Amino acid sequence: MIALRSQREIAKLRAANLMVAQVLQLVKKRVEPGVTTAQLDKLAEDEILRQGAIPAFKGYAGFPATLCTSVNHEIVHGIPSKKRKLKEGDIISIDVGVKLDGYFGDAAITVPVGTVSKAAQKLMQVTEESLMLAIECAVAGEKLYTLSHRVQEHAEANGYSVVRDFVGHGIGTELHEPPQIPNYGKPGTGLTLQPGMVLAIEPMVNLGGYGVQVLEDGWTAITRDRKLSAHFEHTITVTEGQPEILSQVRA
Ligand code: MG
Repeated sequence: MIALRSQREIAKLRAANLMVAQVLQLVKKRVEPGVTTAQLDKLAEDEILRQGAIPAFKGYAGFPATLCTSVNHEIVHGIPSKKRKLKEGDIISIDVGVKLDGYFGDAAITVPVGTVSKAAQKLMQVTEESLMLAIECAVAGEKLYTLSHRVQEHAEANGYSVVRDFVGHGIGTELHEPPQIPNYGKPGTGLTLQPGMVLAIEPMVNLGGYGVQVLEDGWTAITRDRKLSAHFEHTITVTEGQPEILSQVRA
């Protein structure tokens, strides 16, 4: 069953996801050569607790931190560490989840550390574009895998591959709810989107092949070919009109 959220619930999801967006902005500002991923994690955790929410990833299936910090060829689920100092030219994917008043927020960005290569810049840009293209078609009446296809089509048109092993998801009173949202698929298939569905759409796009390997820490997923990977995620809600991006700080 896919939950259809009431306006009262959407308001709570909006609050949780706004916090996620604010935390990502805060952490992004601190990304520079020399900072450790553990420092970024502490910054995020302190802010979430200060705002009266709960870091949603910490303790989730035993994950030990507030952020997932995935550097360069790490795709997702990187564990923040005091030993991991960011270097000029790295790219880092930062994923954060919170629980506020019983409802979850979840979003991710990939950002450059100082000046990065043209190739890294373009990978990040195309990944974010693929997310926005998927969101654009998240309208009532559309089929779910049309969104998946939009991500795949845009990534592959640029010579990249999309990760198969991890997917986006519904979100609400649980961090991960049905449906699963792959980043590849056949357009015009899958379930029909309805107003009140809340979805975390999260393309993971690789510069090389889509093969994944999980490190001995049991979490960190890396590209098999050790080429770069980028990850962007928004939580959105399907409405009668245009989709609303919940994980966004409004101007
Ligand atoms: Mg997610």
